[in-house]
Amino acid sequence: MTARILDGKSIALQIRKEIAIEVAALVDRRGIEPCLAAVLVGEDPASQVYVKNKEIACEKAGIRSRLFRLPSSTSTSELVELLSQLNCDVKIHGILVQLPLPKQINERLVLDAVSPAKDVDAFSPENVGLISQGRPRFLPCTPHGVMQLLGRCQIETAGKEVVVVGRSEIVGKPLVSMFLQKTGPLGPTNSNATVTCCHSQSANLARITQRAEILVVAIGKPNFITSEMVRPGAVVIDVGINRLGDKLVGDVDFESVSKIAGAITPVPGGIGPLTIAMLLRNTLTAASISDGF
Ligand code: NDP
Repeated sequence: MTARILDGKSIALQIRKEIAIEVAALVDRRGIEPCLAAVLVGEDPASQVYVKNKEIACEKAGIRSRLFRLPSSTSTSELVELLSQLNCDVKIHGILVQLPLPKQINERLVLDAVSPAKDVDAFSPENVGLISQGRPRFLPCTPHGVMQLLGRCQIETAGKEVVVVGRSEIVGKPLVSMFLQKTGPLGPTNSNATVTCCHSQSANLARITQRAEILVVAIGKPNFITSEMVRPGAVVIDVGINRLGDKLVGDVDFESVSKIAGAITPVPGGIGPLTIAMLLRNTLTAASISDGF
């Protein structure tokens, strides 16, 4: 069997076109020009590339972006002070703090300082709580990208056995929560799964992953999931992005797993582009609700 390749790049392009149309309508009808503030602390090369890509994507969708660069010696209180200013700036609708932050900064304090109404990464306790209760203000970008990809590829999740490997606050946990809801971003067939979440302490991981009709992997370990860990015909979503020499690879060994899976996302070109598209979606949502409508 050769797996169907789930082309995240082309789906993300389609979503970005849809967003651009909605942005134009928001500007036209209500005079609101969505604006995303990106805060970048230090000189981490990967973070600089990520922020640049987000700025370019914003521009193409008609969303304004403003970059706030701070030196790597910035303290927690200096960063929190900048965030309080951005929270009060009515021309800024979304705030993104690029992670990772330098070691001396208390990440939790910083993320908690972003106003929940501008928290386009959906990291704040309020937004996490709303997601968990099934009444989200914003959906977290990478998990939302996974659900959009599945839905737009006509892969239903309702009633399916889903295994998520990884329990981070950014990917694994919110994804589990989204799979569990009674309705998803694209309706009830895009949720309602039976979900198992695995992590570094899970015993006999392969026995669990082999059960999955849909297997999502987000652990940050290059080529970790091999074909013998995958059920034949399964849908495999590889969230991982790892640098191996000058190549980017996922957490799934694409070469062996694509021979046994029914469908698989490539890395790059799978979930990564969708994550950015969902950030644009959240910025548009933040702008739409910014004047109380
Ligand atoms: P974290 O490091 O925050 O979390 C990794 C998770 O994987 C943890 O829950 C950890 O378990 C689990 N884990 C680690 N080793 C194993 C193992 N051997 N077996 C089972 N579980 C294991 O990573 P993130 O969630 O932030 O990112 C995961 C990957 O996804 C990375 O490659 C990252 O670059 C990528 N990523 C991609 C995005 C995209 O847009 N495509 C966006 C965000 C991330 P434990 O909790 O027990 O430590």
